[in-house]
Amino acid sequence: MENCAKVLTKGINNAFGNREPWQIMTITAINVLTTVWLWNFINQDESVYRRTKKYFFRLLKKLPMVKARIQKEIGSTRDEFRKDMVKRCDGLVYSHKLPEKGFSKEEIFALVDQHIQKGNYDWQDGRVSGTVYGYDPDVVDLITKVYGKASYTNPLHPDIFPGICKMEAEVVKMISTLFNGDENTSGTMTTGGTESILLACKAYRDYAREVKGITKPNMIVPKSAHAAFDKAGQFLGIHVRSIKLNPKTTEVDLTAFKNAINSNTIMLVGSAPNFPYGTMDDIEEIGKLGAYYNIPVHVDACLGSFVIGYMKKAGYYVRPFDFSVKGVTSISVDTHKYGFAPKGSSVIIYTEEKFRDHQFTVTTDWPGGVYGSPTVNGSRAGGIIAACWATMMMFGEEGYLEATKRILDTSRFIEDGLRKIKGIHVIGKPATTVIAIGSEVFEIFRLSDALSKIGWSLNILQFPSGIHICVTDMHTKNGVAAKFLADTAANVAEILKDPGRPVEGKLAIYGAAQTISDRSLVGDVTRNFLSAPYYIPEN
Ligand SMILES: *Cc1c(COP(=O)(O)O)cnc(C)c1O
Repeated sequence: MENCAKVLTKGINNAFGNREPWQIMTITAINVLTTVWLWNFINQDESVYRRTKKYFFRLLKKLPMVKARIQKEIGSTRDEFRKDMVKRCDGLVYSHKLPEKGFSKEEIFALVDQHIQKGNYDWQDGRVSGTVYGYDPDVVDLITKVYGKASYTNPLHPDIFPGICKMEAEVVKMISTLFNGDENTSGTMTTGGTESILLACKAYRDYAREVKGITKPNMIVPKSAHAAFDKAGQFLGIHVRSIKLNPKTTEVDLTAFKNAINSNTIMLVGSAPNFPYGTMDDIEEIGKLGAYYNIPVHVDACLGSFVIGYMKKAGYYVRPFDFSVKGVTSISVDTHKYGFAPKGSSVIIYTEEKFRDHQFTVTTDWPGGVYGSPTVNGSRAGGIIAACWATMMMFGEEGYLEATKRILDTSRFIEDGLRKIKGIHVIGKPATTVIAIGSEVFEIFRLSDALSKIGWSLNILQFPSGIHICVTDMHTKNGVAAKFLADTAANVAEILKDPGRPVEGKLAIYGAAQTISDRSLVGDVTRNFLSAPYYIPEN
């Protein structure tokens, strides 16, 4: 041992023997800095490969020829999207500034009718996947009247509108009870599933920073989880570790999930069910991991909402997913999906107040006063809270149980029917109301294209290509599900006459988009898509 040290000392002295002390210091400093830089370069959340790829594409796009070509192609998608939008609003007059004199109520009602009647799909007759979860004129009447009574209220002022605050607390409590919470369960209403998810991520990020000192947070998220988690990651500076799925079941791969957890992990995520395939992750196993590593577990039941909440009582099998599962610490539930409340309402609930309290934002030193707000917004729509509360009171357990039965019976009917059609297959085991299909024989987008031409609007999936239908109360009406199955069977039969033919039209672009290696190009096209509805042409 002593010898070894001597040899080492001698070696170092030989190496630096002829150098001045300032040289030795400089070399050492450069070496240390280089090592630190290299360490940081390699140990980033995004892999060296992905960063190199992005860098390469950024360089490539600087070449004048490439740049000009890309701008031309992307510019043409912008014009295309704008044209589509203007065509959909055909016949409407565009306002560029306020009318000189205000319109009469009658004129406004007429204009509103004209506007909301636009659109190519007959959602009232169940032609659309998801989107409108239920439509009952009686419920709409209730919502409208209650909103009217409470439209000016704002729960930001509990002293002025205490009753609205009580209604919010009751919505949270009733949903806590439904999802097996206890006296410690707490939460808030939000404006939608995305805000519920965003707030859970914010709560856990701040909790982890305070309690565990984590400053480079990451979250473990199944690839099938909603894009809202990616959005939360972008908003909040949390790295999303996206975990591969078991390709057969489309549930998250639990080994990869476990291996991704590290000392910077602030939360684990599972969906009940997920949006693309409607399948459910193994929440019990994810809960076990959370309990073992002492990391919060969020279950996204935004889509499951009241259907998954009432499934067991309605006599359907559902794997454990709520607060009855050890390790689960929060759940997001969309009242504006299967709760049939107006759009703009959702709930986030936690097992413990210490988590919920980190969701709150507090500013103590503002000249406008000590300012605290529970959710993203400052002022909030008390009218929506009251209307959501009223909808829940109108349905009651009985109403939701019946709706759950109707919708699940229809979902199972459609699933069984689709399984019988040769040439397509159902992806995984649908847990609730979403049924995804793919094909080994033909390009599946040909089917959604054909169905779209006869009025059906389905959702498009990528990696791999697929389509899904999210069954709502709109599909439970007499004959809708049977008609969907018949139309699907007939179109598959037609396609199978020439299974090798490629997809044409817009969906061909969508299919091709999956193979574009530079995802920033797909991003640019998406920005054009988003900006198109804001385009106001000359009249
Ligand atoms: C709809 C949905 C969300 C987000 O909900 P928004 O209300 O659209 O913001 C989150 N997760 C899943 C699985 C969903 O289907």
